[in-house]
Amino acid sequence: MKKIIIAIDGFSSTGKSTVAKQLAKALHYVYIDTGAMYRAVTLFALRENLIGENFLHQEKLEQRLHEIEIRFKRNPEKGFAEVYLNGENVEDEIRTLEVSNYVSPIAAISAVRKILVDQQRQMGKEKGVVMDGRDIGTVVFPEAELKLYMTASAEKRAHRRYEELLERGEEVSYDEVLDNVVMRDQIDSSRKDSPLRKADDAIEIDNSSLTLDEQFEKIIALAEEKIKEENE
Ligand code: C5P
Repeated sequence: MKKIIIAIDGFSSTGKSTVAKQLAKALHYVYIDTGAMYRAVTLFALRENLIGENFLHQEKLEQRLHEIEIRFKRNPEKGFAEVYLNGENVEDEIRTLEVSNYVSPIAAISAVRKILVDQQRQMGKEKGVVMDGRDIGTVVFPEAELKLYMTASAEKRAHRRYEELLERGEEVSYDEVLDNVVMRDQIDSSRKDSPLRKADDAIEIDNSSLTLDEQFEKIIALAEEKIKEENE
């Protein structure tokens, strides 16, 4: 049975990772969270004082990129892979609002993107992957068989992210989270290198008023149809 590549792009907190995980599980594919990779580089930069309030030492960061090793390791209890930075499990730490506040400027650096995009292509070369991010259908796998572009209103998305952060025990306000979502949307879609945009052949899914089940039903049907087509 031939496998396909499923590319899921969209603004932050559009529920990409939720549906990507559901799809990977149902199809026995591998889920790859590319945002986690940009977040891991950001955590490295924060820890090494290469980025902070009002400063970014881009050249120094570029010189030290070779020191960063990012790996995914499956956590059987959770049923998905967690991200490791130089051997340390950083799955929780990369999801904080602090990392979210610095990740978009880091992801705008071409040298960072080049390294991570190469790794992502390597991970998807055998197909059978569901990859989510901002540039998967446009840059990483322009030949992906199924491309989805997820959208939802900024308020809806900020609400989701806010609930998630509260659940993780972070003390944040809704307004802070909304500001972060709007700021990242702006930087991610206006940067020079690989800005977020809908690929011409991507299917747009606005999930503002879809339940998780409705969304999943819709998307798994698209995926099954594509897989059938590929195997005819
Ligand atoms: O998907 P997530 O919200 O975790 O991504 C964090 C950030 O990483 C995004 O706001 C964006 O700046 C960057 N990113 C990217 N390209 C990707 C995935 C994420 O630039 N493929």
